[in-house]
Amino acid sequence: MLNVVLFGPPGAGKGTQSENLVHRFGLVHLSTGDIFRANIKGETELGKLAKSYMDKGALVPDEVTIKMLESEVKKHNAPKGFIFDGFPRTKAQAAALDAFLAENDTTVTAMLALEVPEEELKTRLAKRAETSGRVDDADPAVIQKRIDVYQKETAPVAEFYRDQDKYQGIKGLGTIEEIAQRLYQALEA
Ligand code: ADP
Repeated sequence: MLNVVLFGPPGAGKGTQSENLVHRFGLVHLSTGDIFRANIKGETELGKLAKSYMDKGALVPDEVTIKMLESEVKKHNAPKGFIFDGFPRTKAQAAALDAFLAENDTTVTAMLALEVPEEELKTRLAKRAETSGRVDDADPAVIQKRIDVYQKETAPVAEFYRDQDKYQGIKGLGTIEEIAQRLYQALEA
């Protein structure tokens, strides 16, 4: 299997580039943010819980997120692989993913980390707010909180994969197509 962790701060382009990777490699795209938003829309218990954290720019608790991710993975029978988008976001989630994939006789192939300067992230998220309808994009204070949470809790996850020699930084500036080509090259190398 080809299991890719697509990593990067809010607004780095993980969702956009996941679509490209799905087409190129036939992978299953699992975005924890999208799954939470689908649950909010469907007014499920999970959605209600997730919303109370997401609207503030905080992380949904690990226990809830890990359980949900594992049940989503299990929905797919013999896929070519997965793109994990927005997961893992804490070291506990990274350890849980490793253990879970090992139980299924597979592993994370690579972490591809989109690198984008903070000023550019803020510009992109403010622009996305005009069309996304996302509560967490609409308020600059919530955007700042998400970036802070990323720096404090999520950025350290990169070390977890560096230690396993699976980390690859990818320049996240340029056209969508240019960035896509960098990701393809990293995976095909
Ligand atoms: P972005 O990358 O732009 O912040 P996402 O859609 O990936 O957007 O995430 C939106 C929100 O969903 C996060 O701010 C967080 O509240 C919640 N979330 C998504 N993935 C996770 C995760 N792995 N662990 C905890 N919370 C998560």
